[in-house]
Amino acid sequence: MSEILIRNAAHLVTMNPAREEIAGGDLLVRGGVIAAVGRGLATAGAVIDAAGCVVTPGLVNTHHHLYQTLTRAVPGGQDALLFGWLKALYPVWARFGPEEIRVSALAGLAELALSGCTLTSDHLYLYPNGARLDDTVAAAAEIGLRFHPTRGAMSIGESRGGLPPDALVEEEAAILKDMERVVDAFHDPAPGAMVRVGLAPCSPFSVSRDLMRETARLARDRGVMLHTHLAENDEDVAYSLAKFGCRPGQYAEDLGWTGPDVWHAHCVRLDADEIGLFARSRTGVAHCPCSNCRLGSGIAPLRAMRDAGVPVGLGVDGSASNDAGNLLAEARQAMLLQRVARGADAMSAREALEIATLGGARVLGRDDCGALEPGRRADIAVWDIDGIEAAGAWDPVAALVLCGPTRVRDLFVEGRQIVRDGHVATVDLGRVIEHQTRLARRLMA
Ligand SMILES: [Zn+2]
Repeated sequence: MSEILIRNAAHLVTMNPAREEIAGGDLLVRGGVIAAVGRGLATAGAVIDAAGCVVTPGLVNTHHHLYQTLTRAVPGGQDALLFGWLKALYPVWARFGPEEIRVSALAGLAELALSGCTLTSDHLYLYPNGARLDDTVAAAAEIGLRFHPTRGAMSIGESRGGLPPDALVEEEAAILKDMERVVDAFHDPAPGAMVRVGLAPCSPFSVSRDLMRETARLARDRGVMLHTHLAENDEDVAYSLAKFGCRPGQYAEDLGWTGPDVWHAHCVRLDADEIGLFARSRTGVAHCPCSNCRLGSGIAPLRAMRDAGVPVGLGVDGSASNDAGNLLAEARQAMLLQRVARGADAMSAREALEIATLGGARVLGRDDCGALEPGRRADIAVWDIDGIEAAGAWDPVAALVLCGPTRVRDLFVEGRQIVRDGHVATVDLGRVIEHQTRLARRLMA
C-alpha cells in the first residue's frame, strides 16, 4: 500500500479528543487512511516537507449551491434581500442546462479546494433543460473532492403561491422518483465513501408539506441524510407563521425533519425553544456567515447553539450570495460575527477552526473525517504560514483564522494530492476558468 509522510510541520492541529497540537509534527498516510501521527516518523514512500506550515484536517463545507458560481455579482441581485434576490436570479437559472451545471461545479469545487476544503456538500434544487445531479457528481470526481451532493427540489411555482417561476418547478412524483434513482446510482454508505447522496427539498416556501414528509420517509427508508434551508431571515419566519401557523422549528419537527440525520442551512432566526429542540434531537446546522451578511439576514445564534450542544458546521452557501467560495474566510467571518453580537471573547480562532473541520464532519455524519488521528481518512490541508499574510504572527494556528493565508499550499483527499504548491493538481484550472467565463457571457447576452 502506498505511503505519504507529511514531515516536520511547524504545528500539526489534530482535532483529536484532547485537541492536541504537535510542534514539529509528522503525519503518515497509508492507502487513503491516516496511519500514524507524532514525531520522528519514517517511510519508504513519498515525503512532503511541511516545515513552516500549519497542518490541519481538511475543512468541511456543509452548504453550497455550486451552480451559482455562474451568477456571481449579478447587478439585479447585488443589493436585494433573500426573496427579491431569488426573484432576480430565477429567470437566469432557468436558462441553465447540463453544461452550465457541470462547469460551474468544477469552478466552485476548485475554489473550495484552494481554500482548504476536502469534503463538501452541494444543494442542487433546480434541473432545467435536462440538467441532472449526475453533472455535479462527475465534476467532483474530476476535481477529486469528497462529495455529498443533495437532490434538491422545488414544486410550488408562482401560480400556486410559491416563490419560483412555474418553469423551474417539477412534479412531486417525478422528484421522488429521481431521488430514488440518484441514491441507487451514487450513494455509498461505507467508511471512506467519496460520494454520499442526501435528499433536500429547497425550502418550506418552494415545496409542499407532502413532499417534505414523503422525502423524510424515503430518506429514512434508504438510510440517507436530509437537508434544506430553514429560518433564514425574518421574512422566512413570517412566511412560516402566515402559511403554516407555526415557527420553522415546529414545522420541521411536525414533518419528521429533526434528528441526527438532518441538517438545516442558516437557522439565523431560531429562537431558544428551537435551539433546545435541535440540541435534544441532535439536528445539525450549516452556518453561512458571509451569505447571511451579504443578504442582510442577521447573525445566527451560533454561540447559543454551540453551548446548547447543537452540531454546527460552516457553509460558503451559493456563490450568488457570498459571492466567494472560500471556506477559511467563512471560519474567520463566523468568529467575527459572534464577536459583533456577543463581545470579543464570544468565539476563539481555534473554535472557529474546530467548527470548520470536526464540526462540519459531524453535521454531515462523517465520523471517519474531520480530525488527524490514526484510522481517520487522510483528508489534510497544509498551510504555508511563511507568507506575508501571517508574517510576524506569534501564534501560527490562531493566525490561520485571524490573519490568513487564504489559499492552501497542499491538499490531500483520501491520500490523493488535489492541490500542490497552491495550484489545483487534478484539472487544468485555466481551461475551467475560460469555459466558465464563456458560459457566463452567454447567459448575460
Ligand atoms: Zn443556500
